[in-house]
Amino acid sequence: MKYISTRGRSPALSFSEILLGGLAPDGGLYLPEHYPQFSDDDLTAMRDMDYRDLAFAILSRLIDDIPAADLKTIIDNTYTAQVYGFTRAGQHAEDITPTLKLEDNLYLLSLSNGPTLAFKDMAMQLLGHLFEYVLNKTGETTNILGATSGDTGSAAEYAMRGKKGVRVFMLSPHQKMSRFQTAQMFSLQDDNIFNIAVKGVFDDAQDMVKAVSNDHAFKAKYKIGAVNSINWGRIVAQVVYYFKGYFAVTQHNQQKVSFSVPSGNFGNVCAGHIARMMGLPIDKLVVATNENDVLDEFFKTGQYRPRGAANTYHTSSPSMDISKASNFERFVFDVMGQDGAKVSALWQRVDQGGSFDLSSLLPTIGAEFGFVSGSSNHASRMQTIRQTKEKYGVVIDTHTADGLKVALEVRDIATPMVVLETALPAKFEDAMVEALGEIPPRPTSLNGIEALPQKFAVMDVSVDAIKAFIEANT
Ligand SMILES: *Cc1c(COP(=O)(O)O)cnc(C)c1O
Repeated sequence: MKYISTRGRSPALSFSEILLGGLAPDGGLYLPEHYPQFSDDDLTAMRDMDYRDLAFAILSRLIDDIPAADLKTIIDNTYTAQVYGFTRAGQHAEDITPTLKLEDNLYLLSLSNGPTLAFKDMAMQLLGHLFEYVLNKTGETTNILGATSGDTGSAAEYAMRGKKGVRVFMLSPHQKMSRFQTAQMFSLQDDNIFNIAVKGVFDDAQDMVKAVSNDHAFKAKYKIGAVNSINWGRIVAQVVYYFKGYFAVTQHNQQKVSFSVPSGNFGNVCAGHIARMMGLPIDKLVVATNENDVLDEFFKTGQYRPRGAANTYHTSSPSMDISKASNFERFVFDVMGQDGAKVSALWQRVDQGGSFDLSSLLPTIGAEFGFVSGSSNHASRMQTIRQTKEKYGVVIDTHTADGLKVALEVRDIATPMVVLETALPAKFEDAMVEALGEIPPRPTSLNGIEALPQKFAVMDVSVDAIKAFIEANT
């Protein structure tokens, strides 16, 4: 299996060759040159598999340059009940991504039972094991440099802590994350994890990372890597839980299921799209956005108009506050018949701050690819959290609330609808207190995390300072 770029002008590479990188040299994103197909018989054989076997059945069709026995070990070490143990009452940690029935044909799929209480752990943990394996084979090392406003950074650090050959340098805006998020990251004492609090806002931290990455000599000398949302390894890991969720709510393969996905960078729902392309009987893929509704606008009008960072709202579902949906290009590549030249032309406009119009393809996007969309706002989010508690006795977080709100608007009640639970309420305490008037339950092992000793450096907004810091610590 080779991987090609959505812009059509990069050499085809194997999985291990694209794993540590980000964008393809032509500026595109990697996708497999074809999607493996799962037949009715394959699906029947997969139906009763546990999460690990299911993950192997899927990933082994997409990763052919890691020996099967090694890939199996990596997967078995990643998806354990110990790592994904923060289940709700009535759920089993061994399911890794257990479902929770709200009513007939309406379910949650819990993806947030990992160490940082958000779905990014599902993929990032696998990436940690894969990085260590691939680096060990080649004898290389990597220094992961990133900027975070919360979720991605903590998921990356928990995945990479203690991994041989990997160091993480994570910039975050000084004193701007929640106390819980700060404690989660800064309490890590591992030698290979470096937290750097930048005296600025998230965009300042992000700009520092971009400046370092644009210094090609520095980047090569210090083997600077990234684990951002366009990494193919993250997408591929997320394909698995769509299969797991499908099997959990159906009895046979003639049934179809819809998924509602709280969306920002389009990484999660892109994995759903790929699952559908591989033959999983998905009816609708529901793209649920918050007030940052660039994707909802696209699926309603065919216009893709990314907003600048200055026009991105800070909302109570902050992990979906994006101005540009970086993985969206992967989906558009498929919509355009995998024509890299056409995708290049569209993104030439986006990269210059422009927009594009695919309204003539909207019927295809709805009928052939199954996409529908909707958006949420602070008031509807609060209301959904309250109603879900009243009606079902279940407390959901603000992101999941966006997914459920849109799911209820667009669903056909004869088809099972699975809402992806992308974070646990404990992660967003303030918003939950506003919605319900009470502090959400926290997994007991995280009680008192704010009181643990913290390890971090404070830095001015300075590219030279971060370069010097990396030099001094490698
Ligand atoms: C990252 C994140 C999202 C958005 O996922 P994308 O893959 O960027 O679309 C939604 N909810 C939570 C809690 C997240 O952390």
